[in-house]
Amino acid sequence: MDMLNDPALDAFQAEVRAFLESALPDDLHGAASRATSVFIDPAVTLPWQRILNARGWAAPDWPAEFGGPGWDEMQRYIFAAECARAGAPGLAPMGLKMVAPVIMHYGTAEQRAHYLPRILSGEDYWCQGFSEPGAGSDLAALQLRAIADGDDYVLNGSKIWTTHAHFANRMFALVRTSSQGKPQAGISFLLLDMASPGITIEPILTLAGDHEFNQIFFDDVRVPQANRLGGENEGWSVAKHLLTFERGGRYAPSLIERLERLRTPPISDPVLRARIDREAINLTALQALELKAMRGVGSNPALYASALKILGTETAQRIDVLACEMAGHDAWAEADGQTAPGVAVAVPRYLNDRAASIYAGSNEIQRDLIARLILG
Ligand SMILES: Cc1cc2nc3c(=O)[nH]c(=O)nc-3n(C[C@H](O)[C@H](O)[C@H](O)COP(=O)(O)OP(=O)(O)OC[C@H]3O[C@@H](n4cnc5c(N)ncnc54)[C@H](O)[C@@H]3O)c2cc1C
Repeated sequence: MDMLNDPALDAFQAEVRAFLESALPDDLHGAASRATSVFIDPAVTLPWQRILNARGWAAPDWPAEFGGPGWDEMQRYIFAAECARAGAPGLAPMGLKMVAPVIMHYGTAEQRAHYLPRILSGEDYWCQGFSEPGAGSDLAALQLRAIADGDDYVLNGSKIWTTHAHFANRMFALVRTSSQGKPQAGISFLLLDMASPGITIEPILTLAGDHEFNQIFFDDVRVPQANRLGGENEGWSVAKHLLTFERGGRYAPSLIERLERLRTPPISDPVLRARIDREAINLTALQALELKAMRGVGSNPALYASALKILGTETAQRIDVLACEMAGHDAWAEADGQTAPGVAVAVPRYLNDRAASIYAGSNEIQRDLIARLILG
């Protein structure tokens, strides 16, 4: 970000930049530009998370009382922009950005003390068990049964599209604890151990051929009732709170870097240059909206979260198309040592990013939510 005009923020930016230059290991420089998915393998992200955690910077958004750095929104944005500029790998969001805020909000003192430090250190790696074969957009239709038995719940059913479940030792899951009343009224939110007997993980390959998500089967899986977050049958409120963190966020910093990389080597075709310039203008507007959202200016967080999700993911998909067109036939060639990094990842990234307008609630559903929030 080059428009700070604030000596304190300039100094902060310089501090972050110097830290990234010295602390980001050589093999992780540019890891983000080599990645073909927003979900980078923990073998790459966890070593970086540990380095950040040692500096107190693994969770920029967390309040200081839980181990965050206590930054204001501009500092958090600058940090994201500098990490993107350095090409540092993005950390997995499921623990740090999704379940942690709801543990802070709804968790008991014991749950906070147990889980939050383990999320920061990377000792616990989380996956999200929301979607089921019969419940995606209509999430409240979920049917994974949790029947109370003594101090436990006994779980039977299935979750699907569970990103990185094959790496995770923890899952946060929505389960059905009651069939009475509205579907939303019978849902509870559980924190469970992926090593529990009765859990089976079946891989599902993406369009790009990657093993990123899975289907999970639960056969009489026992989960202590003490692992419930919030009240019984009150999990829908927890889930709604969590989804604003999953959808909102900062898309612009990494997209700006991705777009700017397309300008190297310099482009002679004026039409192509104009298309890149148009995306650059879109990204400036997106960045302004993200900063407004972070400051809580003007509107409700759910509205911002849905709008940013649509704008961020659709811009990413247009940049993917540009990258593939520019790479031309080379984009389909087998990558070798001579292939420029941007060219080698253009097609896998294009294929992977088709999912961006589906995950975290499809963009059609986000448009629906925006219409309901604005029009009532
Ligand atoms: C890469 C990827 C990773 C994912 N990771 C996870 C994860 O870790 N954990 C997890 O729980 N889930 C995960 N998901 C699942 C994701 O949340 C669902 O795919 C998403 O909510 C859509 O549900 P569905 O796939 O069942 O599609 P459906 O709900 O069947 O929708 C099919 C189509 O119909 C449209 N549609 C449905 N209802 C409406 C409506 N009312 N109005 C207008 N259009 C509508 C949708 O927009 C979509 O285009 C992931 C998905 C992807 C693609």
